[in-house]
Amino acid sequence: PSPTPLPVLHRLNLAEASRRLARRECSAREIMQSCLDHIERVDGQVKAFLSVDREDALAQADAADRALASGASHREQPLLGLPIALKDVLCHRGQPCGCASRILGGFRSPYDATVVERLKAAGAVVFGRLNMDEFAMGSSTENSAWFTTRNPWDLERIPGGSSGGSAAAVAAQECLGSLGSDTGGSIRQPAALCGCVGVKPTYGRVSRYGLVAFASSLDQIGPFAKTVEDAALLTGVISGHDPRDSTSLPEPVPDYRAALGAGLKGLRLGVAREFMVGGLDPEVRDAVQAAVDQLISLGATVQEVSLPHSQYAVATYYIIATAEASANLARFDGVRYGTRVAGTDPTEMYERTRGAGFGAEVKRRVILGTYVLSSGYYDAYYLRAQKVRTLIRGDFLRAFEHVDAIVSPTTPTAAFRMGEKTQDPLQMYLSDIFTISCNLAGIPGLSLPCGFTRSPKLPIGLQLLGKPLGEQTLFRIAEAYEQSTSWHRELAPTA
Ligand code: GLN
Repeated sequence: PSPTPLPVLHRLNLAEASRRLARRECSAREIMQSCLDHIERVDGQVKAFLSVDREDALAQADAADRALASGASHREQPLLGLPIALKDVLCHRGQPCGCASRILGGFRSPYDATVVERLKAAGAVVFGRLNMDEFAMGSSTENSAWFTTRNPWDLERIPGGSSGGSAAAVAAQECLGSLGSDTGGSIRQPAALCGCVGVKPTYGRVSRYGLVAFASSLDQIGPFAKTVEDAALLTGVISGHDPRDSTSLPEPVPDYRAALGAGLKGLRLGVAREFMVGGLDPEVRDAVQAAVDQLISLGATVQEVSLPHSQYAVATYYIIATAEASANLARFDGVRYGTRVAGTDPTEMYERTRGAGFGAEVKRRVILGTYVLSSGYYDAYYLRAQKVRTLIRGDFLRAFEHVDAIVSPTTPTAAFRMGEKTQDPLQMYLSDIFTISCNLAGIPGLSLPCGFTRSPKLPIGLQLLGKPLGEQTLFRIAEAYEQSTSWHRELAPTA
């Protein structure tokens, strides 16, 4: 086949782009320039990026071209010359890092997050700041202090959240891959709604050093990608032990791509009884059912499993996540970071700074979190939530005695309209009903495309949940499914 003409280099996936670079069919600069040109064309509508440092991105691409010219290869540096964009919650030295919040307006990162160091060591061109819900609190990017990102499949709809910019940028083909963070579904939910692959690794698999903390016992960083193979590659690059994050796991990182192509013979899948009911859109249910049938036809066996405590997951999450958020966000007080609003004494300065700097949802969470931790309520709410969390993890570990992975919808519906849920926080919280228990249990989860709604045409996501450190199995299942379907080859109108 003849090489892709230059204007569509931004549409390549990581595997294709690295092959072209290796064969000198294009340069890293041309790929980066193609992404920048495409951002110029479509991001006025999609609004995935908060900012892009074009000169820095092109300088990194030129450095990659020089490395390639002097013999560097993708064997040692698997992301050499490939543009990867970052959610506005990850520190990238010298670049803004604002968590889409006014309170961090003007703040620039003094150092690289460990994941950014690892991307750079793998040769990636790391660029851009992607929009998100303020401090990663939300499911639609409507809580961004700056603007709402649009769904590349339908600009009237939200891309999901909180990593909505990360998902939209990949789906709109504005970058070849991106990173986000997932505390209760913030990678998998937007990946599902935008039609890309998103991975939340096992808690502790990826270092959180340089990730602005939301709920430290739940947060994980993970990738968005166009294909399962790319997602496996990115997960491998960013994973591994880091002495700077005390929750980081010491286990060696397997070559996730080595598991691909192994087929599904003998693999046991579970469908959770509790996941296929209540509020589930019929088109989503049918697409997931068809995906399960497809997995069976590929050689997997399927059985029903029970996760009886999952009905408490959303309530448990909103106690634990808000409690941890209220503690983590205490540092944003106008003293060290970002914006300060002066007052006559320190207390008034804190109040004014936080009053002006935080949006409504962040304030709601800080108030809730402070309440559940306060004396007299600690035992009734926080301690009890921790006990339920243990039961939720126990449900999963018991299920994994019988199955290798659990299959479910990623979200109860496809992308909703802007403004549809902003007046009702509970409705917004329920869009994470299938993703939240995975964070509480600390297990890995992946979402990949499994179809579209008919009219309008919107992506539907299939979620795979695995054993602790069972990422390899998730990639193997996801890739077998992907290779037998063509959903991932469909392009959004803004691509
Ligand atoms: N939507 C959930 C929340 O608002 C999850 C967010 C996340 O995973 N960061 O908390």
